[in-house]
Amino acid sequence: MKIVLNKYLNKIKFIIKNDKVLFFQIVLLLLLLLVIYRGFHHLPDKTEINEILMNSKQKNLYIIDVGHGYTGECKGNHVKLEDGSCFYEYQYCYDLYKKIDIMLKKSNIFSILLDTNVLVQNMPINTRVREVNNIVRKVNRANITTLVISLHANYTSKNPDATGVEVYINLEKQKNILDASLYNEAMTNAAILFANNLAHYSGLPLRKSRGKEYKLSELRPEDCGILKRTKCYAILTENGFFSNEKERNKMQTDKFKTNIAYAHYASICEIEGIIPYPINIFYEQ
Ligand SMILES: [Zn+2]
Repeated sequence: MKIVLNKYLNKIKFIIKNDKVLFFQIVLLLLLLLVIYRGFHHLPDKTEINEILMNSKQKNLYIIDVGHGYTGECKGNHVKLEDGSCFYEYQYCYDLYKKIDIMLKKSNIFSILLDTNVLVQNMPINTRVREVNNIVRKVNRANITTLVISLHANYTSKNPDATGVEVYINLEKQKNILDASLYNEAMTNAAILFANNLAHYSGLPLRKSRGKEYKLSELRPEDCGILKRTKCYAILTENGFFSNEKERNKMQTDKFKTNIAYAHYASICEIEGIIPYPINIFYEQ
Protein backbone atom coordinates (compact mmCIF):
# COMPACT_ATOMS: atom_id res chain seq x y z
CA MET A 1 0.00 0.00 0.00
CA LYS A 2 2.72 2.36 0.98
CA ILE A 3 4.50 1.94 -2.31
CA VAL A 4 1.36 2.60 -4.31
CA LEU A 5 0.64 5.70 -2.28
CA ASN A 6 4.18 6.98 -2.72
CA LYS A 7 3.97 6.39 -6.41
CA TYR A 8 0.81 8.42 -6.56
CA LEU A 9 2.34 11.25 -4.60
CA ASN A 10 5.36 11.22 -6.85
CA LYS A 11 3.14 11.42 -9.86
CA ILE A 12 1.37 14.50 -8.52
CA LYS A 13 4.71 16.06 -7.63
CA PHE A 14 5.88 15.23 -11.10
CA ILE A 15 2.93 16.89 -12.75
CA ILE A 16 3.29 19.98 -10.61
CA LYS A 17 6.96 20.22 -11.32
CA ASN A 18 6.58 19.78 -15.05
CA ASP A 19 3.44 21.57 -15.82
CA LYS A 20 2.19 23.64 -12.93
CA VAL A 21 -0.03 25.76 -15.14
CA LEU A 22 -1.77 22.79 -16.76
CA PHE A 23 -2.30 21.19 -13.37
CA PHE A 24 -4.01 24.25 -11.92
CA GLN A 25 -6.05 24.67 -15.07
CA ILE A 26 -7.37 21.14 -14.64
CA VAL A 27 -8.17 21.81 -10.98
CA LEU A 28 -10.02 25.01 -11.91
CA LEU A 29 -11.95 23.20 -14.62
CA LEU A 30 -12.97 20.47 -12.16
CA LEU A 31 -14.09 23.09 -9.63
CA LEU A 32 -16.10 24.87 -12.33
CA LEU A 33 -17.78 21.59 -13.32
CA LEU A 34 -18.60 20.95 -9.67
CA VAL A 35 -20.20 24.39 -9.31
CA ILE A 36 -22.27 23.82 -12.47
CA TYR A 37 -23.30 20.35 -11.26
CA ARG A 38 -24.40 21.66 -7.88
CA GLY A 39 -26.23 24.53 -9.55
CA PHE A 40 -28.36 22.10 -11.55
CA HIS A 41 -29.24 20.00 -8.55
CA HIS A 42 -31.53 22.13 -6.46
CA LEU A 43 -32.13 19.51 -3.82
CA PRO A 44 -29.73 20.20 -0.99
CA ASP A 45 -26.97 17.62 -0.84
CA LYS A 46 -25.93 18.50 2.67
CA THR A 47 -28.94 16.96 4.30
CA GLU A 48 -27.12 15.01 6.97
CA ILE A 49 -28.01 15.96 10.46
CA ASN A 50 -25.03 16.13 12.70
CA GLU A 51 -26.73 16.44 16.02
CA ILE A 52 -29.03 13.73 17.33
CA LEU A 53 -30.62 14.70 20.62
CA MET A 54 -31.54 11.79 22.85
CA ASN A 55 -32.37 11.38 26.49
CA SER A 56 -29.73 9.12 28.02
CA LYS A 57 -32.40 6.72 29.29
CA GLN A 58 -34.09 6.53 25.91
CA LYS A 59 -33.89 3.01 24.44
CA ASN A 60 -34.53 3.77 20.79
CA LEU A 61 -34.33 6.64 18.39
CA TYR A 62 -37.65 7.58 16.76
CA ILE A 63 -37.72 9.13 13.32
CA ILE A 64 -41.09 10.51 12.30
CA ASP A 65 -41.60 10.63 8.56
CA VAL A 66 -44.44 12.85 7.49
CA GLY A 67 -46.00 11.02 4.55
CA HIS A 68 -46.53 12.68 1.25
CA GLY A 69 -45.13 16.12 0.88
CA TYR A 70 -46.38 19.32 -0.67
CA THR A 71 -49.07 21.58 0.60
CA GLY A 72 -50.39 24.33 -1.56
CA GLU A 73 -52.28 25.00 -4.78
CA CYS A 74 -54.17 21.76 -4.28
CA LYS A 75 -51.20 19.62 -5.31
CA GLY A 76 -50.00 16.47 -3.60
CA ASN A 77 -52.46 14.04 -2.05
CA HIS A 78 -55.59 16.02 -1.35
CA VAL A 79 -59.33 16.39 -1.80
CA LYS A 80 -61.07 19.60 -2.71
CA LEU A 81 -63.57 20.79 -0.13
CA GLU A 82 -66.87 22.54 -0.79
CA ASP A 83 -65.52 25.97 0.10
CA GLY A 84 -62.77 25.59 -2.52
CA SER A 85 -60.00 24.89 -0.01
CA CYS A 86 -58.22 21.53 0.17
CA PHE A 87 -57.65 18.80 2.70
CA TYR A 88 -54.04 17.73 2.34
CA GLU A 89 -52.68 14.40 3.51
CA TYR A 90 -49.37 16.10 4.26
CA GLN A 91 -50.86 18.87 6.41
CA TYR A 92 -52.93 16.39 8.40
CA CYS A 93 -49.88 14.18 9.02
CA TYR A 94 -47.77 17.19 9.92
CA ASP A 95 -50.40 18.23 12.49
CA LEU A 96 -50.21 14.69 13.90
CA TYR A 97 -46.42 14.93 14.06
CA LYS A 98 -46.54 18.22 15.98
CA LYS A 99 -48.83 16.65 18.57
CA ILE A 100 -46.77 13.47 18.83
CA ASP A 101 -43.65 15.57 19.33
CA ILE A 102 -45.24 17.58 22.18
CA MET A 103 -46.35 14.37 23.88
CA LEU A 104 -42.98 12.67 23.50
CA LYS A 105 -41.10 15.71 24.79
CA LYS A 106 -43.33 15.76 27.87
CA SER A 107 -42.05 12.22 28.56
CA ASN A 108 -38.52 13.30 27.76
CA ILE A 109 -38.35 11.23 24.56
CA PHE A 110 -36.70 12.84 21.58
CA SER A 111 -37.66 12.23 18.01
CA ILE A 112 -36.39 13.40 14.67
CA LEU A 113 -38.70 14.80 12.05
CA LEU A 114 -37.54 13.78 8.63
CA ASP A 115 -38.79 16.88 6.85
CA THR A 116 -37.11 19.58 8.90
CA ASN A 117 -33.80 17.86 8.33
CA VAL A 118 -33.70 19.19 4.86
CA LEU A 119 -36.25 21.98 5.00
CA VAL A 120 -37.87 20.54 1.91
CA GLN A 121 -41.48 19.65 2.37
CA ASN A 122 -41.89 17.74 -0.82
CA MET A 123 -39.02 15.38 -0.09
CA PRO A 124 -38.90 12.52 -2.60
CA ILE A 125 -38.85 8.98 -1.29
CA ASN A 126 -35.24 8.35 -2.32
CA THR A 127 -34.10 11.32 -0.26
CA ARG A 128 -36.20 10.21 2.69
CA VAL A 129 -34.74 6.70 2.60
CA ARG A 130 -31.21 8.10 2.23
CA GLU A 131 -31.76 10.43 5.18
CA VAL A 132 -33.02 7.62 7.39
CA ASN A 133 -30.09 5.41 6.48
CA ASN A 134 -27.62 8.24 7.14
CA ILE A 135 -29.02 8.63 10.64
CA VAL A 136 -29.19 4.86 11.21
CA ARG A 137 -25.54 4.47 10.25
CA LYS A 138 -24.60 7.06 12.88
CA VAL A 139 -26.67 5.73 15.77
CA ASN A 140 -25.84 2.09 15.01
CA ARG A 141 -22.29 2.93 16.07
CA ALA A 142 -23.69 3.76 19.51
CA ASN A 143 -25.74 0.53 19.48
CA ILE A 144 -29.01 2.39 19.35
CA THR A 145 -31.99 0.93 17.52
CA THR A 146 -34.00 3.16 15.23
CA LEU A 147 -37.73 3.01 14.58
CA VAL A 148 -39.12 5.01 11.68
CA ILE A 149 -42.78 5.88 11.93
CA SER A 150 -44.25 7.02 8.64
CA LEU A 151 -47.52 8.92 9.05
CA HIS A 152 -50.18 8.74 6.35
CA ALA A 153 -53.86 9.10 5.62
CA ASN A 154 -55.82 6.95 3.19
CA TYR A 155 -57.61 7.89 -0.01
CA THR A 156 -59.67 5.82 -2.41
CA SER A 157 -61.90 6.94 -5.24
CA LYS A 158 -63.52 3.50 -5.49
CA ASN A 159 -65.49 3.44 -2.26
CA PRO A 160 -66.60 6.71 -0.63
CA ASP A 161 -67.51 4.80 2.55
CA ALA A 162 -64.09 3.15 3.04
CA THR A 163 -63.10 3.69 6.65
CA GLY A 164 -60.54 2.75 9.27
CA VAL A 165 -56.93 2.75 10.37
CA GLU A 166 -54.15 0.50 9.08
CA VAL A 167 -50.61 -0.45 10.06
CA TYR A 168 -48.02 -1.70 7.58
CA ILE A 169 -44.65 -3.33 8.13
CA ASN A 170 -42.08 -5.20 6.05
CA LEU A 171 -40.71 -8.48 7.31
CA GLU A 172 -38.22 -9.23 4.56
CA LYS A 173 -35.23 -7.13 5.41
CA GLN A 174 -33.49 -8.66 8.38
CA LYS A 175 -30.07 -8.26 6.86
CA ASN A 176 -28.52 -4.82 7.27
CA ILE A 177 -30.43 -4.39 10.51
CA LEU A 178 -28.59 -3.87 13.75
CA ASP A 179 -30.32 -6.61 15.76
CA ALA A 180 -31.35 -8.79 12.85
CA SER A 181 -32.29 -11.93 14.74
CA LEU A 182 -34.85 -10.02 16.79
CA TYR A 183 -36.26 -8.12 13.88
CA ASN A 184 -39.31 -10.08 12.70
CA GLU A 185 -40.73 -10.82 16.10
CA ALA A 186 -40.10 -7.36 17.54
CA MET A 187 -41.43 -5.68 14.39
CA THR A 188 -44.60 -7.78 14.46
CA ASN A 189 -45.18 -7.01 18.13
CA ALA A 190 -44.68 -3.30 17.51
CA ALA A 191 -47.17 -3.41 14.62
CA ILE A 192 -49.81 -5.11 16.77
CA LEU A 193 -49.22 -2.59 19.53
CA PHE A 194 -49.64 0.41 17.20
CA ALA A 195 -52.65 -1.17 15.46
CA ASN A 196 -54.53 -1.85 18.67
CA ASN A 197 -53.77 1.58 20.11
CA LEU A 198 -54.82 3.30 16.88
CA ALA A 199 -58.14 1.46 16.76
CA HIS A 200 -58.72 2.04 20.48
CA TYR A 201 -57.99 5.77 20.58
CA SER A 202 -59.42 6.71 17.18
CA GLY A 203 -62.63 4.73 17.56
CA LEU A 204 -62.26 3.74 13.90
CA PRO A 205 -62.26 0.12 12.72
CA LEU A 206 -58.89 -1.55 12.28
CA ARG A 207 -58.50 -2.81 8.72
CA LYS A 208 -56.87 -6.16 9.15
CA SER A 209 -55.09 -8.38 6.70
CA ARG A 210 -55.62 -12.15 6.70
CA GLY A 211 -56.77 -11.99 10.29
CA LYS A 212 -53.66 -10.10 11.36
CA GLU A 213 -53.71 -6.66 12.89
CA TYR A 214 -50.92 -5.48 10.67
CA LYS A 215 -50.46 -5.65 6.92
CA LEU A 216 -47.31 -6.66 5.15
CA SER A 217 -46.32 -3.83 2.91
CA GLU A 218 -47.51 -4.16 -0.61
CA LEU A 219 -48.31 -0.51 -0.99
CA ARG A 220 -47.49 1.80 -3.83
CA PRO A 221 -43.72 1.98 -4.43
CA GLU A 222 -43.48 5.54 -3.11
CA ASP A 223 -44.85 4.36 0.23
CA CYS A 224 -42.99 1.06 0.30
CA GLY A 225 -39.52 2.56 0.12
CA ILE A 226 -39.68 3.78 3.68
CA LEU A 227 -40.50 0.25 4.86
CA LYS A 228 -38.37 -1.76 2.45
CA ARG A 229 -35.21 0.21 1.87
CA THR A 230 -34.59 1.68 5.31
CA LYS A 231 -32.02 -0.28 7.28
CA CYS A 232 -33.92 -0.19 10.55
CA TYR A 233 -37.28 -0.91 12.14
CA ALA A 234 -40.02 0.87 10.24
CA ILE A 235 -43.77 1.13 10.54
CA LEU A 236 -46.33 2.92 8.39
CA THR A 237 -49.64 4.06 9.83
CA GLU A 238 -52.69 5.04 7.77
CA ASN A 239 -54.72 7.27 10.03
CA GLY A 240 -58.19 7.42 8.51
CA PHE A 241 -59.75 7.86 5.06
CA PHE A 242 -59.89 11.45 3.89
CA SER A 243 -61.91 10.33 0.86
CA ASN A 244 -64.75 9.49 3.25
CA GLU A 245 -66.56 12.76 4.02
CA LYS A 246 -67.75 11.76 7.47
CA GLU A 247 -64.31 10.49 8.43
CA ARG A 248 -62.60 13.54 6.96
CA ASN A 249 -64.78 15.85 9.05
CA LYS A 250 -63.59 14.00 12.13
CA MET A 251 -59.98 14.10 10.94
CA GLN A 252 -60.19 17.89 10.78
CA THR A 253 -60.98 18.20 14.48
CA ASP A 254 -58.31 18.85 17.06
CA LYS A 255 -59.69 16.15 19.35
CA PHE A 256 -59.43 13.41 16.73
CA LYS A 257 -55.86 14.43 15.82
CA THR A 258 -54.97 14.36 19.51
CA ASN A 259 -56.44 10.84 19.79
CA ILE A 260 -54.44 9.58 16.81
CA ALA A 261 -51.26 11.26 18.05
CA TYR A 262 -51.82 9.78 21.49
CA ALA A 263 -52.09 6.27 20.00
CA HIS A 264 -48.59 6.74 18.55
CA TYR A 265 -47.27 8.26 21.77
CA ALA A 266 -48.74 5.51 23.97
CA SER A 267 -47.20 2.85 21.70
CA ILE A 268 -43.78 4.49 21.91
CA CYS A 269 -44.08 4.76 25.70
CA GLU A 270 -44.85 1.06 25.89
CA ILE A 271 -41.78 0.23 23.77
CA GLU A 272 -39.72 2.49 26.04
CA GLY A 273 -41.20 0.84 29.13
CA ILE A 274 -42.57 4.05 30.59
CA ILE A 275 -46.09 5.10 31.60
CA PRO A 276 -47.63 7.71 29.28
CA TYR A 277 -49.23 10.86 30.65
CA PRO A 278 -53.03 10.63 30.56
CA ILE A 279 -54.67 11.69 27.31
CA ASN A 280 -56.91 14.40 28.82
CA ILE A 281 -53.97 16.71 29.56
CA PHE A 282 -53.30 16.93 25.82
CA TYR A 283 -56.80 18.02 24.77
CA GLU A 284 -57.10 21.67 23.85
CA GLN A 285 -58.41 23.64 26.81
ZN1 LIG B 1 -49.71 8.37 2.08
